[in-house]
Amino acid sequence: MPGWEVVGAEEAAMVQQVFDSGGVLMAHGFDSRRTRFFVREFEKACAETFRSSFCQAVSSGSAATRIALQSVGVGPGDEVITQAFNFISTVEAIREIGAVPVIVNCDRDLHIDLGEVRSSISPRTRAVVAVHMLGVPGPLTELNSLCREYGLLLIEDACEAVGAEYQGHSVGTLSGVGIFSFDHGKMVSTGEGGLVLTDSADVARLAKSLHDHGHAYDPGVSRNLDSQLAPGFNFRMSELQAAVGIAQLRKLPAMLEQNRARAQALMSGVAGGLRTRSYSSDARPTDDTVMLVDLVPSVQQAVIATLARFGLGTKNVPDALRWHFAGHWDKLLDTNQRGSLAATENFLGSSVAIPILLSKPVDFYGEVGSAIASAALRS
Ligand SMILES: *Cc1c(COP(=O)(O)O)cnc(C)c1O
Repeated sequence: MPGWEVVGAEEAAMVQQVFDSGGVLMAHGFDSRRTRFFVREFEKACAETFRSSFCQAVSSGSAATRIALQSVGVGPGDEVITQAFNFISTVEAIREIGAVPVIVNCDRDLHIDLGEVRSSISPRTRAVVAVHMLGVPGPLTELNSLCREYGLLLIEDACEAVGAEYQGHSVGTLSGVGIFSFDHGKMVSTGEGGLVLTDSADVARLAKSLHDHGHAYDPGVSRNLDSQLAPGFNFRMSELQAAVGIAQLRKLPAMLEQNRARAQALMSGVAGGLRTRSYSSDARPTDDTVMLVDLVPSVQQAVIATLARFGLGTKNVPDALRWHFAGHWDKLLDTNQRGSLAATENFLGSSVAIPILLSKPVDFYGEVGSAIASAALRS
């Protein structure tokens, strides 16, 4: 899957450059002591790579979610609709800002269920957070028109889909605001890190301020004399993380290509006997995961056992559902907010997500695919 597999000499060399350009400083200030600003360089590189007008680097994807929600104007008491197959940070972020999470099911392809979004809209609904889980873009055209119809804000959680595209555009740029994660498990890794993407100058200005103690970034004014725009906090990305990110970003196109070759080999090995998640023909996933769905329990077990024979685990489904399925989050959601999530639970319970690792050759995945196909036939 992800960036951690290819972290190497290039990342180390970029980190060395931080030491060689004035020392280990923060993203802003110390102008006279330094020759470079790595967070700013990383943000610029992200804006170019993902063709987004504004990119705000932050300390994590979780922080990015919180900042994105606040930057588009979600506040205390607002209801925010999001999906049951998710990562726990979405609900944490909604709660952090005093908003109210409303969880809806996913459909059989593990995208947010559009019918349930529609039927969950109340007079207090302000926003929808749609999550492109495991690298596969959700139904963005339909989501955008639904949100437009009801005057809702759409936020794309593209943390797991860095590098995926929809209608030729990077995910994260197809709604009011998008978020990326650069944690250790994602396509581009800075160890920990995140990004807020937007084409709106107003959203960008607020996101910049909120992530840095409310600084207004008055032009031509030193940091100490800067005015305050909003109540903020410290969610800054460090220069060291940004340096790693600059090197990682250069590797993204090659990683995507290598993922695709492996995912295709796996699927041709499986040879159509089992169903994978479907998605819009306009979507181009990251292919760092292949997800088999609609498996009866004996086949699901046979697939997991076959993966184990090849030294592969599963990727979150089913091994880490505790953190990826809202039905488990009783510390964050009351029974009412969790609603009836049996549909999602059933879909997840009959799926297996297979990690694509770049350290394994293409042929390896062809063999895994054929072995899965014959194991499924026998069980
Ligand atoms: C990884 C992830 C996040 C945020 O992750 P951080 O570890 O805080 O960077 C948010 N949403 C989803 C769907 C994720 O997978």
